[in-house]
Amino acid sequence: MKAFYTDHYVLPLPLGHRFPMEKYSQLRDLVNTLEGMELIEAPPISDTQILYAHDPSYLMKVIQGSLSPQEQREIGFPWSPQMVERSRRSAGATLAAAKIALDEGVSANLAGGTHHAYRQRGSGFCVFNDSAITARALQKEIHPKLKVAIVDLDVHQGNGTAAILQHDSSIFTLSIHGENNFPFQKETSDLDIGLENGCSDKQYLDALDQALSMMHDQFKPDFIIYLAGADPHEGDRLGKLKVTQAGMRLRDEQVFQYGQDHQIPIAFSMAGGYGKEIDSTVRIHFQTIQIALHFANKLR
Ligand SMILES: [Zn+2]
Repeated sequence: MKAFYTDHYVLPLPLGHRFPMEKYSQLRDLVNTLEGMELIEAPPISDTQILYAHDPSYLMKVIQGSLSPQEQREIGFPWSPQMVERSRRSAGATLAAAKIALDEGVSANLAGGTHHAYRQRGSGFCVFNDSAITARALQKEIHPKLKVAIVDLDVHQGNGTAAILQHDSSIFTLSIHGENNFPFQKETSDLDIGLENGCSDKQYLDALDQALSMMHDQFKPDFIIYLAGADPHEGDRLGKLKVTQAGMRLRDEQVFQYGQDHQIPIAFSMAGGYGKEIDSTVRIHFQTIQIALHFANKLR
């Protein structure tokens, strides 16, 4: 299975900044120990591809470094050339993984899942919306009739993705998230499930099962972009849910099994994960990679 990485593009962040930059290199080190994995440096996304999902005026502000202090605060990173490059690579990784998944069934972005980015602004550590860009790029560059579903299981709602794709019936947006979590003003996805604080494995997995079958009845995707956020885990600082590591495993298996049962290729990204201990977040992400690899091997 091919996995695209960007962790060597490190952002210059102030000391004590809460973005867990180290988790990405730790994850790559672990993935590197797995037999059957091929690690590839992520290519940058082009301006043309970014414009599939973003406004030209916003792209120009990001490229030229003319985001206002308020816009930078909303993104959560101070602007730097490295921020632009990393954002391009992170979105490029999801698109590259998607193109590989079309041929090979499954492929990974070891970062990405930047679902809070809107058409005209970034937010919550997200500059470019990799999922929306990728869905559109597959349609524009590979197959205009491709029906893409974005299955967003990060604990935070995929608000940017929902807003960008709100009037696009060729792309289905599914978000299962904490109802009482950021973003507090939710957007409307094609299917939203908002979970209560303290949600257990059983409640979570039942919700997922129901969501996947509703999505299948309503849409029947040809392709899935899966945001495998680690933040529904009980050890997450921001998550507010109580899904165990075993529950997270079952979650990933349910998604990849759905893809396999219906022969739908899956490109997946890591999305959020803010463990009280960074190791627990890295373990959840690594578990996702191992499960995906298992399914990828079955496709050979
Ligand atoms: Zn999140």
